[in-house]
Amino acid sequence: RHSVDQLPFSHSYAALPPAFYTRLQPTPLPNPYLVCASPAVAELIGLDPAEFAQPEFISAFAGNRIPAGTQPLSAVYSGHQFGVWAGQLGDGRAILLGEVPADASGGMLEIQLKGAGLTPYSRMGDGRAVLRSSIREYLCSEAMAALGIPTSRALCVVGSDELVMRERPETAAVATRLAPSFIRFGSFEHWYYRDQPDQLKTLADYVIARFYPELRDADKPYQALLTEVTRRTAELVAHWQAVGFMHGVLNTDNMSILGITIDYGPFGFMEAFDANHICNHSDTQGRYAYSMQPKICHWNCYALGQALLPLIGEVDDVHAALAGFASAYQEKIDVLLHAKLGLQTDQDEDDELINATFKLMQDNHVDFTLFFRRLGDLQRDNPAADAPLRDLFIDRAAFDAWASQYRLRLGREIDNGSSSDAVRRAAMHAVNPKYVLRNYLAQVAIDKAQNKDFSEIARLQKVLERPFDDQPENEAYAALPPDWASHLEVSCSS
Ligand code: AMP
Ligand code: MG
Ligand code: MG
Repeated sequence: RHSVDQLPFSHSYAALPPAFYTRLQPTPLPNPYLVCASPAVAELIGLDPAEFAQPEFISAFAGNRIPAGTQPLSAVYSGHQFGVWAGQLGDGRAILLGEVPADASGGMLEIQLKGAGLTPYSRMGDGRAVLRSSIREYLCSEAMAALGIPTSRALCVVGSDELVMRERPETAAVATRLAPSFIRFGSFEHWYYRDQPDQLKTLADYVIARFYPELRDADKPYQALLTEVTRRTAELVAHWQAVGFMHGVLNTDNMSILGITIDYGPFGFMEAFDANHICNHSDTQGRYAYSMQPKICHWNCYALGQALLPLIGEVDDVHAALAGFASAYQEKIDVLLHAKLGLQTDQDEDDELINATFKLMQDNHVDFTLFFRRLGDLQRDNPAADAPLRDLFIDRAAFDAWASQYRLRLGREIDNGSSSDAVRRAAMHAVNPKYVLRNYLAQVAIDKAQNKDFSEIARLQKVLERPFDDQPENEAYAALPPDWASHLEVSCSS
């Protein structure tokens, strides 16, 4: 296990032509202090968690010191924001240090500082991130990983008393995040809109060689790339829907070319169910509402397809690749929802049951996480035991009607002894989390951190590391949001 300066950095992205990035130094953060750090992520890259307390660790991840072997740079990209072509964006506050081997996967992880100061792509921004959003990104990346959802990871957050201006003054922080790559749909759009097909090809060849090597020998490798990214994106958004995750800003510059969740900002987990819920206060039209996410991700794949057209050549080939979205999404969400409902078989009437389930949730604004979790406790032949589940509903008669339909359906599972209540409960609890990063839980940790008490971040992270386990000592973390939480708003301001 290494110290920061012993990490074996390499630099495949920096080996691309200079037009893809600008080399630069992070801007020092005054009097930095460690806010939180993840031992699990440190272990992933062979970093010794004992280093967290070292001044060398903190100064490196504050951006105050360039660790040995790094080649800091900011990448250029463009994108569609809220459906409108926005032109050049780029890493306005993110600085890539390089990539290191990741133990388990055999792959590599890039290490990026977010909030490390001005870059040539900062536009009107100040290059900083606030403590609040850095903690949210840290907690959520790790919570998503524990839920089994493809995501970037977070190593640590380093804070400072330096003030930056948002809706009000807030303190600045640097979050360190990791992913095999932070290349976005917008990285491709950048070269398409600039009419630079050579650069487009360079980028596509890099992505294929490094992350999709199995496509190199395909008949039409660029079409195969679009097909595969489309499939991964469809499966990713199916995961989001199944756990009630809302990204908040699904602009094409926030869409990973690897099909992983990146760029955590005004995200949210669904609480009182409303399919049209908008978690981002800045999203006045509801473009990125819960129910819109699959359509928007499909739309984003179209933007990528457009950008890849010069390489793919035939519009029909682009359309054929994009056509895979609907079936990939449907298949994945079908599997996930069957598992959430504890159904082992796929029967014709299931679509009707699933629709009825979401209608019931909608009509009663039932808490998304608690509903599916408590559903796992249902006993097929004992409605009297339904009370904790039934109590979530305003309209008890509607619940009773739905529950008898559900019980009938459970009765049609193949009775091979594996459909007992206990077996179904275990299977359902393994896919329906008890603990998700509710906004108010994050806010409690943030409020304490803003008063220099970082203990709640660590405690909450520990709970969210085991989202499917019953943790009797942490019952409170599974509770409905308190009244004060209804005033919480998150926006693009971060
Ligand atoms: P986002 O939607 O948060 O992913 O950000 C969109 C674009 O704005 C990206 O190019 C970011 O790098 C940039 N950006 C966001 N906030 C800042 C900031 N405070 N300073 C500089 N650039 C920023
Ligand atoms: Mg972004
Ligand atoms: Mg079906």
